[in-house]
Amino acid sequence: MKKTIVDYSLNGKKVIIRCDLNVPMENGVITDENRIIESLETVKFASDAGAKVILMSHLGRVKTEEDKLTNSLESVSKRMSELLKRDIKFMPFTRGMELELAINALENGEILMMENTRFEDLDGEKESKCDEELGKYWASLGEVFINDAFGTAHRKHASNVGIASNLPNGIGFLIKKELDTLGNAISNPKRPLVIILGGKKVADKMGVIEHAVKVADYILIGGGMSYTFFKALGYNIGLSVVDDSSLEFCKRIYEAHKDKIMLPVDIVVGTSFTNETTARLTDIKNIGNNDMGLDIGIATINNYKKILMDAKTVIWNGPVGVFELEKFSTGTRKMCEILASIKANVIIGGGDSAAAVAKFGFKDKYSHISTGGGASLEMLEGKELPGIAVIWEK
Ligand code: AMP
Repeated sequence: MKKTIVDYSLNGKKVIIRCDLNVPMENGVITDENRIIESLETVKFASDAGAKVILMSHLGRVKTEEDKLTNSLESVSKRMSELLKRDIKFMPFTRGMELELAINALENGEILMMENTRFEDLDGEKESKCDEELGKYWASLGEVFINDAFGTAHRKHASNVGIASNLPNGIGFLIKKELDTLGNAISNPKRPLVIILGGKKVADKMGVIEHAVKVADYILIGGGMSYTFFKALGYNIGLSVVDDSSLEFCKRIYEAHKDKIMLPVDIVVGTSFTNETTARLTDIKNIGNNDMGLDIGIATINNYKKILMDAKTVIWNGPVGVFELEKFSTGTRKMCEILASIKANVIIGGGDSAAAVAKFGFKDKYSHISTGGGASLEMLEGKELPGIAVIWEK
Protein backbone atom coordinates (compact mmCIF):
# COMPACT_ATOMS: atom_id res chain seq x y z
CA MET A 1 0.00 0.00 0.00
CA LYS A 2 1.22 3.51 -0.80
CA LYS A 3 2.25 5.91 1.94
CA THR A 4 -0.22 8.76 2.30
CA ILE A 5 -0.21 12.21 3.80
CA VAL A 6 -1.53 10.83 7.10
CA ASP A 7 1.61 8.74 7.53
CA TYR A 8 3.75 11.83 8.13
CA SER A 9 4.01 14.20 11.01
CA LEU A 10 3.62 17.54 9.24
CA ASN A 11 3.79 20.09 12.03
CA GLY A 12 6.42 22.73 11.23
CA LYS A 13 7.51 20.90 8.07
CA LYS A 14 7.75 22.40 4.61
CA VAL A 15 5.36 20.18 2.68
CA ILE A 16 5.20 20.35 -1.10
CA ILE A 17 1.81 19.29 -2.46
CA ARG A 18 1.57 18.65 -6.19
CA CYS A 19 -2.06 19.36 -7.04
CA ASP A 20 -3.79 19.09 -10.39
CA LEU A 21 -5.22 22.59 -10.76
CA ASN A 22 -5.24 22.37 -14.53
CA VAL A 23 -8.74 23.82 -14.85
CA PRO A 24 -10.32 24.88 -18.15
CA MET A 25 -10.22 28.67 -18.61
CA GLU A 26 -11.84 31.00 -21.13
CA ASN A 27 -10.57 34.56 -21.30
CA GLY A 28 -9.06 34.29 -17.86
CA VAL A 29 -12.27 32.90 -16.32
CA ILE A 30 -12.31 29.42 -14.79
CA THR A 31 -15.12 27.49 -16.51
CA ASP A 32 -15.04 24.35 -14.33
CA GLU A 33 -13.54 24.46 -10.85
CA ASN A 34 -13.97 20.79 -10.03
CA ARG A 35 -10.25 20.12 -9.87
CA ILE A 36 -9.77 22.96 -7.39
CA ILE A 37 -12.59 21.63 -5.22
CA GLU A 38 -11.22 18.09 -5.33
CA SER A 39 -7.80 19.37 -4.20
CA LEU A 40 -9.03 21.19 -1.09
CA GLU A 41 -9.14 18.29 1.34
CA THR A 42 -5.41 17.53 1.19
CA VAL A 43 -4.38 21.19 1.33
CA LYS A 44 -6.65 21.85 4.30
CA PHE A 45 -5.43 18.75 6.10
CA ALA A 46 -1.78 19.80 5.70
CA SER A 47 -2.47 23.36 6.82
CA ASP A 48 -4.50 22.16 9.82
CA ALA A 49 -1.66 19.83 10.75
CA GLY A 50 0.69 22.81 10.98
CA ALA A 51 2.60 22.28 7.76
CA LYS A 52 4.17 25.12 5.80
CA VAL A 53 2.32 24.30 2.63
CA ILE A 54 3.89 24.79 -0.81
CA LEU A 55 1.44 24.18 -3.64
CA MET A 56 2.51 23.31 -7.16
CA SER A 57 0.53 22.60 -10.32
CA HIS A 58 0.71 22.94 -14.05
CA LEU A 59 -1.88 24.85 -16.09
CA GLY A 60 -2.34 24.38 -19.83
CA ARG A 61 0.61 24.16 -22.18
CA VAL A 62 3.44 26.66 -22.17
CA LYS A 63 5.36 26.72 -25.44
CA THR A 64 5.97 30.45 -25.92
CA GLU A 65 6.47 33.56 -23.77
CA GLU A 66 2.89 34.65 -24.69
CA ASP A 67 1.51 31.38 -23.29
CA LYS A 68 2.70 32.57 -19.88
CA LEU A 69 0.19 35.41 -19.97
CA THR A 70 -2.81 33.12 -20.39
CA ASN A 71 -1.56 30.32 -18.16
CA SER A 72 -0.65 31.96 -14.89
CA LEU A 73 -1.94 30.20 -11.78
CA GLU A 74 -2.68 33.50 -10.05
CA SER A 75 -6.46 33.42 -10.61
CA VAL A 76 -6.57 29.74 -9.64
CA SER A 77 -4.75 30.63 -6.44
CA LYS A 78 -7.34 33.34 -5.70
CA ARG A 79 -10.23 30.98 -6.28
CA MET A 80 -8.68 28.25 -4.20
CA SER A 81 -8.14 30.72 -1.39
CA GLU A 82 -11.85 31.72 -1.51
CA LEU A 83 -12.99 28.10 -1.46
CA LEU A 84 -10.58 27.20 1.30
CA LYS A 85 -11.43 30.34 3.25
CA ARG A 86 -7.71 30.80 3.96
CA ASP A 87 -5.02 33.05 2.56
CA ILE A 88 -2.81 31.65 -0.16
CA LYS A 89 0.33 33.60 -0.88
CA PHE A 90 0.84 33.48 -4.63
CA MET A 91 4.45 33.68 -5.83
CA PRO A 92 4.84 34.37 -9.57
CA PHE A 93 8.04 32.29 -9.82
CA THR A 94 9.03 28.69 -10.35
CA ARG A 95 12.50 29.17 -8.85
CA GLY A 96 14.85 31.77 -7.43
CA MET A 97 15.71 33.70 -4.31
CA GLU A 98 12.41 35.53 -3.88
CA LEU A 99 10.55 32.24 -3.93
CA GLU A 100 12.99 30.62 -1.52
CA LEU A 101 12.77 33.55 0.92
CA ALA A 102 8.98 33.47 0.83
CA ILE A 103 8.96 29.73 1.52
CA ASN A 104 11.38 30.10 4.39
CA ALA A 105 9.24 32.88 5.86
CA LEU A 106 6.13 30.69 6.03
CA GLU A 107 4.61 30.14 9.46
CA ASN A 108 3.12 26.80 10.45
CA GLY A 109 -0.21 26.32 8.68
CA GLU A 110 0.42 28.99 6.05
CA ILE A 111 0.00 28.25 2.38
CA LEU A 112 1.99 29.43 -0.64
CA MET A 113 1.38 28.67 -4.30
CA MET A 114 4.15 28.74 -6.88
CA GLU A 115 3.64 29.75 -10.49
CA ASN A 116 2.73 27.19 -13.19
CA THR A 117 5.35 24.41 -13.25
CA ARG A 118 5.21 24.38 -17.03
CA PHE A 119 6.80 27.81 -17.20
CA GLU A 120 9.96 25.70 -16.87
CA ASP A 121 9.12 24.09 -20.22
CA LEU A 122 10.24 27.23 -22.03
CA ASP A 123 13.79 26.30 -21.16
CA GLY A 124 14.27 22.87 -22.76
CA GLU A 125 10.98 21.38 -21.52
CA LYS A 126 12.54 20.82 -18.13
CA GLU A 127 9.23 20.11 -16.37
CA SER A 128 7.74 17.81 -19.02
CA LYS A 129 11.01 15.95 -19.61
CA CYS A 130 11.56 15.41 -15.90
CA ASP A 131 14.88 17.26 -15.85
CA GLU A 132 16.98 15.87 -13.02
CA GLU A 133 18.34 19.19 -11.82
CA LEU A 134 14.85 20.72 -11.72
CA GLY A 135 13.40 17.80 -9.73
CA LYS A 136 16.27 18.09 -7.22
CA TYR A 137 15.90 21.87 -6.98
CA TRP A 138 12.16 21.75 -6.33
CA ALA A 139 12.68 18.96 -3.80
CA SER A 140 15.23 21.19 -2.00
CA LEU A 141 12.41 23.67 -1.29
CA GLY A 142 10.55 21.22 0.99
CA GLU A 143 10.92 18.37 3.44
CA VAL A 144 8.01 16.11 2.49
CA PHE A 145 6.39 15.64 -0.92
CA ILE A 146 2.73 14.76 -1.38
CA ASN A 147 1.50 13.87 -4.83
CA ASP A 148 -2.21 14.58 -5.22
CA ALA A 149 -2.27 15.32 -8.94
CA PHE A 150 -4.11 12.32 -10.37
CA GLY A 151 -4.70 14.01 -13.74
CA THR A 152 -0.92 14.13 -14.33
CA ALA A 153 -0.01 10.85 -12.67
CA HIS A 154 0.39 9.12 -16.05
CA ARG A 155 3.21 11.55 -16.90
CA LYS A 156 6.79 11.42 -15.70
CA HIS A 157 7.38 15.08 -14.97
CA ALA A 158 9.83 16.96 -12.74
CA SER A 159 6.99 18.16 -10.48
CA ASN A 160 5.83 14.63 -9.64
CA VAL A 161 8.41 11.91 -10.36
CA GLY A 162 11.36 14.35 -10.16
CA ILE A 163 10.52 15.68 -6.70
CA ALA A 164 9.31 12.34 -5.34
CA SER A 165 12.66 10.77 -6.27
CA ASN A 166 14.40 13.22 -3.93
CA LEU A 167 12.14 13.51 -0.86
CA PRO A 168 10.17 11.36 1.61
CA ASN A 169 6.79 11.13 -0.10
CA GLY A 170 3.21 9.97 -0.10
CA ILE A 171 -0.09 10.45 -1.88
CA GLY A 172 -2.86 12.88 -0.94
CA PHE A 173 -6.55 12.16 -0.39
CA LEU A 174 -7.51 12.71 -4.02
CA ILE A 175 -5.11 10.13 -5.46
CA LYS A 176 -6.02 7.80 -2.60
CA LYS A 177 -9.69 8.11 -3.58
CA GLU A 178 -8.87 7.43 -7.24
CA LEU A 179 -6.91 4.30 -6.29
CA ASP A 180 -9.55 3.07 -3.85
CA THR A 181 -12.41 3.52 -6.31
CA LEU A 182 -11.18 3.31 -9.90
CA GLY A 183 -8.06 1.27 -9.09
CA ASN A 184 -10.00 -1.19 -6.97
CA ALA A 185 -12.83 -1.46 -9.49
CA ILE A 186 -10.33 -2.62 -12.10
CA SER A 187 -8.16 -4.90 -9.99
CA ASN A 188 -10.63 -6.28 -7.47
CA PRO A 189 -14.21 -5.53 -8.58
CA LYS A 190 -17.48 -6.79 -7.22
CA ARG A 191 -18.90 -8.71 -10.15
CA PRO A 192 -20.39 -8.47 -12.64
CA LEU A 193 -18.04 -5.68 -13.77
CA VAL A 194 -19.39 -3.82 -16.80
CA ILE A 195 -17.19 -1.38 -18.70
CA ILE A 196 -18.92 1.09 -21.03
CA LEU A 197 -16.68 2.49 -23.73
CA GLY A 198 -17.61 5.29 -26.08
CA GLY A 199 -16.06 8.31 -27.72
CA LYS A 200 -14.62 8.70 -31.14
CA LYS A 201 -11.14 7.26 -31.37
CA VAL A 202 -10.61 3.53 -31.17
CA ALA A 203 -6.85 3.87 -31.58
CA ASP A 204 -6.65 5.69 -28.23
CA LYS A 205 -8.63 2.98 -26.51
CA MET A 206 -7.18 -0.20 -28.03
CA GLY A 207 -5.14 -0.80 -24.88
CA VAL A 208 -8.25 -0.29 -22.76
CA ILE A 209 -10.32 -2.76 -24.81
CA GLU A 210 -7.46 -5.27 -24.72
CA HIS A 211 -7.31 -5.05 -20.91
CA ALA A 212 -11.09 -4.80 -20.48
CA VAL A 213 -11.68 -8.21 -22.10
CA LYS A 214 -9.43 -9.67 -19.43
CA VAL A 215 -11.01 -8.01 -16.40
CA ALA A 216 -14.63 -7.18 -17.26
CA ASP A 217 -17.68 -9.41 -17.57
CA TYR A 218 -19.23 -7.18 -20.23
CA ILE A 219 -17.98 -4.35 -22.42
CA LEU A 220 -20.71 -2.15 -23.83
CA ILE A 221 -19.55 -0.26 -26.89
CA GLY A 222 -21.16 3.00 -27.97
CA GLY A 223 -20.33 6.27 -29.65
CA GLY A 224 -18.18 6.83 -32.68
CA MET A 225 -15.97 3.87 -31.97
CA SER A 226 -18.84 1.46 -32.81
CA TYR A 227 -18.50 2.25 -36.50
CA THR A 228 -14.95 0.95 -36.74
CA PHE A 229 -16.26 -2.32 -35.31
CA PHE A 230 -19.18 -2.31 -37.78
CA LYS A 231 -16.94 -1.63 -40.77
CA ALA A 232 -14.54 -4.35 -39.61
CA LEU A 233 -17.51 -6.76 -39.49
CA GLY A 234 -18.56 -5.85 -43.04
CA TYR A 235 -21.49 -3.44 -42.46
CA ASN A 236 -22.02 -0.29 -44.50
CA ILE A 237 -21.38 2.64 -42.18
CA GLY A 238 -22.10 5.45 -44.66
CA LEU A 239 -20.38 8.66 -43.55
CA SER A 240 -19.95 7.64 -39.91
CA VAL A 241 -16.66 8.32 -38.21
CA VAL A 242 -14.16 5.50 -38.68
CA ASP A 243 -10.63 4.73 -37.65
CA ASP A 244 -9.23 2.62 -40.49
CA SER A 245 -6.01 1.92 -38.64
CA SER A 246 -7.98 -0.04 -36.02
CA LEU A 247 -10.08 -2.25 -38.32
CA GLU A 248 -8.00 -5.39 -37.89
CA PHE A 249 -7.81 -4.90 -34.16
CA CYS A 250 -11.61 -4.53 -33.90
CA LYS A 251 -12.26 -7.65 -35.95
CA ARG A 252 -9.77 -9.75 -34.00
CA ILE A 253 -10.89 -8.64 -30.54
CA TYR A 254 -14.61 -8.86 -31.34
CA GLU A 255 -14.35 -12.35 -32.79
CA ALA A 256 -12.33 -13.57 -29.86
CA HIS A 257 -14.68 -12.05 -27.25
CA LYS A 258 -18.16 -11.97 -28.80
CA ASP A 259 -19.60 -13.16 -25.51
CA LYS A 260 -18.33 -10.07 -23.70
CA ILE A 261 -18.26 -7.25 -26.24
CA MET A 262 -21.73 -5.83 -26.90
CA LEU A 263 -22.26 -3.61 -29.93
CA PRO A 264 -25.26 -1.37 -30.69
CA VAL A 265 -28.10 -3.06 -32.59
CA ASP A 266 -29.72 0.20 -33.64
CA ILE A 267 -28.50 3.75 -34.02
CA VAL A 268 -29.70 7.27 -34.70
CA VAL A 269 -28.28 8.73 -37.89
CA GLY A 270 -28.20 12.20 -39.42
CA THR A 271 -26.74 13.41 -42.68
CA SER A 272 -24.57 16.10 -41.13
CA PHE A 273 -22.85 16.79 -37.84
CA THR A 274 -25.44 19.40 -36.77
CA ASN A 275 -28.64 19.83 -34.78
CA GLU A 276 -30.46 20.84 -38.00
CA THR A 277 -30.10 17.51 -39.75
CA THR A 278 -33.07 15.10 -39.63
CA ALA A 279 -32.50 12.31 -37.14
CA ARG A 280 -33.52 8.79 -38.16
CA LEU A 281 -33.53 5.59 -36.15
CA THR A 282 -32.23 2.57 -38.02
CA ASP A 283 -30.93 -0.91 -37.33
CA ILE A 284 -27.28 -1.29 -38.11
CA LYS A 285 -27.90 -3.34 -41.25
CA ASN A 286 -29.65 -0.41 -42.94
CA ILE A 287 -27.22 2.47 -42.68
CA GLY A 288 -27.42 4.49 -45.92
CA ASN A 289 -24.44 5.79 -47.89
CA ASN A 290 -25.13 9.37 -46.76
CA ASP A 291 -25.89 8.49 -43.14
CA MET A 292 -23.73 9.45 -40.22
CA GLY A 293 -24.28 7.43 -37.05
CA LEU A 294 -24.44 9.90 -34.18
CA ASP A 295 -26.19 8.15 -31.28
CA ILE A 296 -27.26 4.73 -30.04
CA GLY A 297 -30.90 3.71 -30.55
CA ILE A 298 -33.60 2.70 -28.09
CA ALA A 299 -33.21 -1.08 -28.58
CA THR A 300 -29.52 -0.72 -27.78
CA ILE A 301 -30.29 1.37 -24.71
CA ASN A 302 -32.67 -1.36 -23.51
CA ASN A 303 -30.13 -4.12 -24.19
CA TYR A 304 -27.50 -2.24 -22.24
CA LYS A 305 -29.95 -1.45 -19.45
CA LYS A 306 -30.63 -5.17 -18.93
CA ILE A 307 -26.94 -5.86 -18.45
CA LEU A 308 -26.43 -2.81 -16.24
CA MET A 309 -29.34 -3.71 -13.94
CA ASP A 310 -27.40 -6.78 -12.75
CA ALA A 311 -24.00 -5.09 -12.57
CA LYS A 312 -22.22 -4.65 -9.25
CA THR A 313 -19.45 -2.44 -10.65
CA VAL A 314 -19.60 -0.14 -13.68
CA ILE A 315 -16.84 1.94 -15.22
CA TRP A 316 -17.84 4.37 -17.97
CA ASN A 317 -15.40 6.04 -20.30
CA GLY A 318 -16.54 7.97 -23.36
CA PRO A 319 -19.99 9.28 -24.40
CA VAL A 320 -22.18 6.87 -26.38
CA GLY A 321 -23.22 9.56 -28.86
CA VAL A 322 -22.54 13.14 -29.87
CA PHE A 323 -23.90 14.43 -26.56
CA GLU A 324 -22.93 18.01 -27.43
CA LEU A 325 -25.75 18.04 -30.03
CA GLU A 326 -29.19 17.94 -28.37
CA LYS A 327 -30.62 15.72 -31.12
CA PHE A 328 -28.03 13.04 -30.53
CA SER A 329 -27.70 13.31 -26.77
CA THR A 330 -30.47 10.85 -25.79
CA GLY A 331 -28.25 7.77 -25.56
CA THR A 332 -25.70 9.45 -23.31
CA ARG A 333 -28.44 11.04 -21.19
CA LYS A 334 -30.20 7.68 -20.80
CA MET A 335 -26.92 6.07 -19.74
CA CYS A 336 -26.60 8.77 -17.06
CA GLU A 337 -30.14 7.96 -15.87
CA ILE A 338 -29.68 4.20 -15.87
CA LEU A 339 -26.37 4.44 -14.02
CA ALA A 340 -27.96 6.71 -11.42
CA SER A 341 -30.79 4.22 -10.82
CA ILE A 342 -28.82 1.01 -10.31
CA LYS A 343 -27.29 -0.26 -7.08
CA ALA A 344 -23.80 -0.80 -8.49
CA ASN A 345 -20.60 0.97 -7.64
CA VAL A 346 -20.48 3.39 -10.61
CA ILE A 347 -17.28 5.13 -11.63
CA ILE A 348 -17.14 7.73 -14.34
CA GLY A 349 -13.85 8.13 -16.20
CA GLY A 350 -12.51 11.65 -16.61
CA GLY A 351 -12.67 13.79 -19.73
CA ASP A 352 -15.77 13.70 -21.95
CA SER A 353 -17.83 11.29 -19.85
CA ALA A 354 -17.34 13.52 -16.83
CA ALA A 355 -18.34 16.53 -18.96
CA ALA A 356 -21.50 14.73 -20.15
CA VAL A 357 -22.49 13.74 -16.62
CA ALA A 358 -22.06 17.35 -15.47
CA LYS A 359 -23.98 18.72 -18.46
CA PHE A 360 -27.01 16.53 -17.78
CA GLY A 361 -27.03 17.25 -14.03
CA PHE A 362 -25.87 13.87 -12.74
CA LYS A 363 -22.67 14.99 -11.08
CA ASP A 364 -23.55 13.82 -7.57
CA LYS A 365 -25.27 10.60 -8.51
CA TYR A 366 -22.34 8.19 -8.76
CA SER A 367 -19.74 6.65 -6.48
CA HIS A 368 -16.89 8.52 -8.14
CA ILE A 369 -16.05 10.79 -11.05
CA SER A 370 -12.39 10.56 -11.90
CA THR A 371 -10.41 13.79 -12.14
CA GLY A 372 -8.09 12.36 -14.77
CA GLY A 373 -9.03 11.60 -18.38
CA GLY A 374 -5.69 10.28 -19.65
CA ALA A 375 -4.70 8.90 -16.26
CA SER A 376 -7.96 6.97 -15.82
CA LEU A 377 -7.61 5.54 -19.33
CA GLU A 378 -4.08 4.35 -18.58
CA MET A 379 -5.30 2.78 -15.38
CA LEU A 380 -7.99 1.01 -17.42
CA GLU A 381 -5.21 -0.27 -19.66
CA GLY A 382 -3.74 -1.94 -16.60
CA LYS A 383 -0.67 0.27 -16.65
CA GLU A 384 1.12 1.52 -13.58
CA LEU A 385 1.17 5.33 -13.52
CA PRO A 386 4.70 6.75 -13.07
CA GLY A 387 3.52 9.49 -10.69
CA ILE A 388 2.11 6.82 -8.38
CA ALA A 389 4.70 4.10 -8.96
CA VAL A 390 7.42 6.42 -7.61
CA ILE A 391 5.62 6.90 -4.27
CA TRP A 392 6.96 4.89 -1.33
CA GLU A 393 5.15 1.83 -0.05
CA LYS A 394 4.14 1.66 3.62
P1 AMP B 1 -12.93 10.68 -27.48
O1 AMP B 1 -12.06 11.89 -27.48
O2 AMP B 1 -12.43 9.59 -28.36
O3 AMP B 1 -13.25 10.18 -26.09
O4 AMP B 1 -14.31 11.14 -28.11
C1 AMP B 1 -15.19 12.02 -27.47
C2 AMP B 1 -16.07 12.63 -28.51
O5 AMP B 1 -16.68 11.62 -29.24
C3 AMP B 1 -17.19 13.50 -27.99
O6 AMP B 1 -16.95 14.84 -28.32
C4 AMP B 1 -18.41 12.97 -28.72
O7 AMP B 1 -19.23 13.98 -29.28
C5 AMP B 1 -17.82 12.17 -29.83
N1 AMP B 1 -18.71 11.15 -30.35
C6 AMP B 1 -19.50 10.32 -29.67
N2 AMP B 1 -20.23 9.56 -30.51
C7 AMP B 1 -19.91 9.93 -31.75
C8 AMP B 1 -20.33 9.54 -33.04
N3 AMP B 1 -21.24 8.59 -33.20
N4 AMP B 1 -19.78 10.15 -34.10
C9 AMP B 1 -18.84 11.10 -33.93
N5 AMP B 1 -18.41 11.52 -32.74
C10 AMP B 1 -18.92 10.95 -31.66
